[in-house]
Amino acid sequence: MAKKKNPVEVYQLICKDCGGRNYAARLKKEHKNLELTKYCPSERKHTPHKAKKA
Ligand SMILES: [Zn+2]
Repeated sequence: MAKKKNPVEVYQLICKDCGGRNYAARLKKEHKNLELTKYCPSERKHTPHKAKKA
């Protein structure tokens, strides 16, 4: 019996400060509420980014 892989979906990491879509990430569904501190090029500083489905 073939075993299915964990589904991985493409998410965009959106800056919570300015709403800029700065990064794309492949995440498993269980990580859909992930928050990461990433560099925002438009603000030129590190800000919290929220994963949102592309
Ligand atoms: Zn920003």
